[in-house]
Amino acid sequence: MNMINNVKCKYQKLCGSCQLLDKSYQDTLNFKLTYVNDCLHKAGFNHQVTKIVEAKQNTNYRNKMIIGYKFVNGKIISGFYEENTHHIIDIDECQMHSKMQNFILQNLKSIFQSLKIKPYDEDRKVGLIRYVLVREAYFTGEILIVLVTASEIFPARSEVVKRIKALSPKIKTIIQNINSRKTSIVLGDKERILYGNGYITDLFGNLKFNISSKAFYQINTLQTQNLYEKIKLLANFNKNETIIDAYSGVGTIGLILASSVKEVISIENNQQSVRAAILNAKINQIKNVHFICDDATNYLVEIAKEKVKIDAIIMDPPRTGSTIAFLEAIKKIKPRKVIYVSCDPSTLARDLKVLKNEYKIMESVCVDMFSWTNHVETLVVLSHKKSDGHI
Ligand code: SAH
Repeated sequence: MNMINNVKCKYQKLCGSCQLLDKSYQDTLNFKLTYVNDCLHKAGFNHQVTKIVEAKQNTNYRNKMIIGYKFVNGKIISGFYEENTHHIIDIDECQMHSKMQNFILQNLKSIFQSLKIKPYDEDRKVGLIRYVLVREAYFTGEILIVLVTASEIFPARSEVVKRIKALSPKIKTIIQNINSRKTSIVLGDKERILYGNGYITDLFGNLKFNISSKAFYQINTLQTQNLYEKIKLLANFNKNETIIDAYSGVGTIGLILASSVKEVISIENNQQSVRAAILNAKINQIKNVHFICDDATNYLVEIAKEKVKIDAIIMDPPRTGSTIAFLEAIKKIKPRKVIYVSCDPSTLARDLKVLKNEYKIMESVCVDMFSWTNHVETLVVLSHKKSDGHI
């Protein structure tokens, strides 16, 4: 494990993705805890989050790399976007990604250069390659590569695939994604598998998970494992409980908790993620998780009208947080426990405020999922005030 106390990065100023590189690692953790507590205090809570799970591996942790391309003075440059701009910084490596991902970054550039495959120029509407997305399964080391092209026609396609495959036997699948829109969204709708079966597999505890190009997957696998362990430990589930896993992605939280509870209802609005979640349940022979593809608020508002007994609701919304209607529906359903997993403390505090009269904070912990950046993951376990504070 590479627990590092200071990181020096030559791209720091231009890139801007790692906002806390000037601090020691311990100081970044204190900074994050202070920020979370400030948000909670401003929202009127006295509660103090005192613990943050540090990352034993705080560099080379990202399992996903998105590479942008540009043609400058007859040469291809490739790397990440300069902060808040559309400029690509030419980089050879990023210390937050694995050695393997950096090796792929460097070699793709030479492959495209030698086969004269040009990056797409948005203004002149010429060229082919827009982005490359690399996903690496942490425990199995399997790699998925998505070549995002502006058009379907791909000169030298088979030669490109042959050369990429030759980089490493860990590269298990290569996909062409066609994105002809004028947008900053990386992936288009249309995909074509060029090699392999379109997904890679990772291990999580004793479960297997398939990872495809578009389905959500947490970017720091080791710390995600720690987060899920904390959920299990702090929420204290039992075999009689029916729980909802809202904003469930590829179903990981619900599938991991399935053996600790009676039933899980998993809700997610991204179709590719739900399809992956159903497949993940199947390959792990888990039968007590039901998957619903719907807007989380729609679903919760509907079941709040019925008399369904729900013991706990786990919610893991994106940075924008949840909705008032979702939180009001929780109050009608009255689960004994609400487990809020948040990647943005300000929307966490805003949402908790809506539940404040009915629920109290029993447990809380931060997890350093995005080391050296100013992002932080927070887990809060709430208990209904009428259930006497039992979790
Ligand atoms: N719990 C998962 C994923 C959390 S990320 C995990 O631990 O891996 C948040 C997820 O919420 C994403 O998969 C996103 O597609 C989904 N999402 C965003 N808005 C949603 C909505 N309105 N209804 C349901 N799911 C939503």
